[in-house]
Amino acid sequence: MSMSESERTTGPCPALDCQWVIDHLQAFLHDELGEEQANAFRHHIDACDDCMEQADIESTISHLLHRCYPPAHVSETLRARVGALRVTL
Ligand SMILES: [Zn+2]
Repeated sequence: MSMSESERTTGPCPALDCQWVIDHLQAFLHDELGEEQANAFRHHIDACDDCMEQADIESTISHLLHRCYPPAHVSETLRARVGALRVTL
């Protein structure tokens, strides 16, 4: 069963799995992560569809709740997807 070992659905960075991303999503959205962690976070959601989806939902809600808070640290890909998501809200 050594094959399943390499097929674990962890993120691209071994130190940063999906659970970590979900747990720190709010902190990321509120710019409370350090620069290194924020970079790792962006790197993960860029490569991980599951977390991208979570981030889409959370950041859209956050954006709606804090309209005057510009999502300056959100990647362009995420911003585009949030823009698309808003149409369906
Ligand atoms: Zn992930």
